[in-house]
Amino acid sequence: MSEQLGIGKLTTRDIDVAGKTVLVRADLNVPLDGDRITDDTRIRGSLPTIRLLLESGAAVVLCSHLGRPKGVTPELSLGPVAKRLGELLSTDVELSVDCVGAQARALVDSLEPGNVLLLENLRFHPEEVQNDSTFSRQLAAGADFFVNDAFGAAHRAHASTEGVTHFLPSVAGLLMEKEVRYLSALVADPPRPFAALVGGAKVSTKIPALRHLLPGLNVLLVGGGMANTFLKAQGHAVGSSLVEDDQVEIAVQILADAGEKGVNVRLPVDVVVAERMAEDARVETVAVSAVPAGSMILDVGPQTVEDYGQALAPTATVVWNGPMGVFEMSPFAGGSLGMARVLSELSAVTVVGGGETAAVVAISGLAERFTHISTGGGASLEMLEGKPLPGVSSLMDVTN
Ligand code: ADP
Ligand code: MG
Repeated sequence: MSEQLGIGKLTTRDIDVAGKTVLVRADLNVPLDGDRITDDTRIRGSLPTIRLLLESGAAVVLCSHLGRPKGVTPELSLGPVAKRLGELLSTDVELSVDCVGAQARALVDSLEPGNVLLLENLRFHPEEVQNDSTFSRQLAAGADFFVNDAFGAAHRAHASTEGVTHFLPSVAGLLMEKEVRYLSALVADPPRPFAALVGGAKVSTKIPALRHLLPGLNVLLVGGGMANTFLKAQGHAVGSSLVEDDQVEIAVQILADAGEKGVNVRLPVDVVVAERMAEDARVETVAVSAVPAGSMILDVGPQTVEDYGQALAPTATVVWNGPMGVFEMSPFAGGSLGMARVLSELSAVTVVGGGETAAVVAISGLAERFTHISTGGGASLEMLEGKPLPGVSSLMDVTN
């Protein structure tokens, strides 16, 4: 996949920001335990854009959502994020107690080049999600440019992702550019053979992506809870496993389509089963043809990992979305961690999309060996479905 491949949108590198004030939409939606940040990956992901802007002589006004507050919710304040950002940037990051209004405007107007201001949680205002244009204009007030670096929120047309682009010259941040470049290259013209490894809980949430990717795929490997519906479609008994009966027909159709197109489709050959989904459950690894009644399939087995590894060996590009099992519990983590190891050892381009799948790769300790791990769960899935993202479409196009 060419590093040169553009995304067709202007980026932070294309604008002259010296002496200007730049509004940056970042994805600072980090997990919190009280006021302690338990994982600062997203904050770190936004640093390259912030640093580039500061080095170029801009004043930076950052905004983000955190969680899903209904109105002002002190527990979802971005205060801890301002503190962490300050540590990482080695500068004071002031927090404006409201993201719009007179006080925010006064703070924005007082900024000097090299200063960073963080606006309080955008979703304390319902107008953010409603993409209210008055609110968008207030957000844009005092800024000269808008940089959208929040890939994780780009599939939503909110005031801070789409609305503000009507009021400011708007470009992509570096993280946004990287995410879109990798994922659009996958959808457009990946180096072949091209494989998809799909899992996760429900097949219904993955059907649009499967349908979109299928015509371009050479190998399709199915695991996780969604494999149960495919196994059922093939006539296997799946005990009390999670199955979506209304999707069995669609699974049959996808298998038929894949067969017609010559895609190498693999389903699990062995599975880890238990009567309960619990850390201390009694587990057993059985062939897919021997799932006991009353047992649930909660992971793929070692033979499946081996088999999928063989199918992936000749591939040049692999996209992975959806864990192979209930990896949150150690007895059912082996399949997902096994596939993380298999992918990490390939020389292929390996791209991971999906929040939980990224978590699996992080737990495996092998993240460094993947080509790209997307920070945006929902947004990456929508890109794989071939949908335009409003937070990207609304940015200025490259004109030659
Ligand atoms: P992602 O966030 O990477 O897109 P999904 O949200 O689609 O992934 O699915 C992740 C969830 O799927 C995990 O919480 C995992 O526990 C669950 N899961 C995986 N395999 C099974 C299974 N066999 N039965 C029930 N749930 C499963
Ligand atoms: Mg998920």
